[in-house]
Amino acid sequence: SRMGNENGIPEYKVTSLQEIEKLYETLNNRFSTGSTESLAYRLYNLKQLAYLIKDNEKRIHQAVYQDIGKGAYDCNLSDLWPIINEIDLAVRRVESWMKDESKIWDAMLSYKTMRPRVKKQPKGVALIISTWNYPWQLTLIPLVGAISAGCPAVLKVSEHAPSSSALLAELLPRYLDPEGYSVVTGAVDETTRLLEKPWGHILYTGAGGVGKIVAAAAAKTLTPTTLELGGKSPVIVSSCANLKITARRMFSIKQMTADMRYVSLAQPTHEICLCQSLLVAPDYVLVIKDKADEFIKVCRETLDTFFPPSPSPESILYTPQSSSLRNTGDLDRMLSYIEEAEQGGKLVHRGELDRNSRRLGISLVKTNLNAIGEGGGLLEQEVFGPVMAIIPVDDIDAAIKYINNRPHPLALYVCSGKRSVFEKVINETRSGSATWNDFGLATLARNLPFGGIGASGWGSHHGKDGFDTFTHHKAVLEIPYIFEPLMALRYPPLTNFGKRV
Ligand code: NAD
Repeated sequence: SRMGNENGIPEYKVTSLQEIEKLYETLNNRFSTGSTESLAYRLYNLKQLAYLIKDNEKRIHQAVYQDIGKGAYDCNLSDLWPIINEIDLAVRRVESWMKDESKIWDAMLSYKTMRPRVKKQPKGVALIISTWNYPWQLTLIPLVGAISAGCPAVLKVSEHAPSSSALLAELLPRYLDPEGYSVVTGAVDETTRLLEKPWGHILYTGAGGVGKIVAAAAAKTLTPTTLELGGKSPVIVSSCANLKITARRMFSIKQMTADMRYVSLAQPTHEICLCQSLLVAPDYVLVIKDKADEFIKVCRETLDTFFPPSPSPESILYTPQSSSLRNTGDLDRMLSYIEEAEQGGKLVHRGELDRNSRRLGISLVKTNLNAIGEGGGLLEQEVFGPVMAIIPVDDIDAAIKYINNRPHPLALYVCSGKRSVFEKVINETRSGSATWNDFGLATLARNLPFGGIGASGWGSHHGKDGFDTFTHHKAVLEIPYIFEPLMALRYPPLTNFGKRV
């Protein structure tokens, strides 16, 4: 059962609307005492968050397995270690992040004497709304930012990860200040109630459709938002790309098996998406047309090596840690892409399927630029699963044009033997991040901002950017009475200009 009490996972209970009212008040009271702002309080709660994870690692693995069938190794790599990394950085840096920043250097001469500086203050109680595919890190990395900034926080966890949500709801008040941090479970009703209230800041991770609902609700209370959204992250394969390396790096990120021999950064993960800390899955490939068939051949060989077909025990159907698609709806959507492609003679590789466990290997569809609008939406929708379109294009300019005609992606990947090709692409396109010759790793670099642009979201976090997200940067000037002779210059009537000194 997804919600059972076995294995020490508490039962999933929806937070009542009365509880939401109560905790909103408690957290705001806590904030108004100012106690969340001290360095000691921030460090205490950051460290407690690390202990929460360390002490309960096994239970967290169990919960994530129950939610989405993700194995322990993948859970550590993609969900838990990135949080520990963030905590580690925050604990070491928060004291310096909190400090006032002097702005004396670029000030005009007359302002230099006024001690121009930026004071950092927490914005207020934060609302963090997260999703199911990385249920821990998408919730707790934003929390690291909020704690660092001195903000209390409400964590609205996803109803699609009930075991993780229930476990976090049990653990958080035991480890962190229960009057400073709360978990809210539930779905639309609970989130809607939360969104009616003013907050210091809202950080939402999830699909763009709900992102619009969040932004519209936040507009009513003038609450600032960070939106971490989805979309299609493209791969460009240039004519001088090493196809073998490209295929290996790409598929080892797109879908991994339990077998660690394959430089497994993460496992199975049809759900690898756009997650924050490890991987931002490649969605489709634009390949220079002369190389298209060779690339497809190399891709198929790579897939056969990485995920040998059954009856091999290494088939994704048998590897114990291979994860499943979230629900039959997602599986059916994948199967409809595959079916459409097959009917159009475009299916060039078919992933193995086990309906019962909702496991599906990677399928490849060779399509073309004219196929937009066909294929059940493969070229339009965020695939968010193991079907990849491969689209031959005339040249790099055509690939750039294709990307620029669509919503800005969260991540962009350029595979090329020449760095200049990468430079050209990143100069001429906009995306949340860009990586030359590998996939997903930009999200691991904890001191790089993580965020999208346009349809892939706005704002960013991770590391210092997380701190800044929840921090108000207050402009401060000091103009003591002793400056009166200077100030007197501006006193009306201005006909006296210059005479009063
Ligand atoms: P989801 O269904 O878990 O929804 C996300 C959150 O929104 C949940 O907490 C849910 O309760 C809430 N919600 C849902 N409907 C709502 C409504 N009508 N009103 C108010 N709140 C509502 O997640 P999902 O949308 O299936 O997530 C998958 C999407 O998230 C994909 O598009 C993926 O690309 C994106 N994603 C982005 C990132 C990132 O960091 N940029 C990371 C992970 C996932």
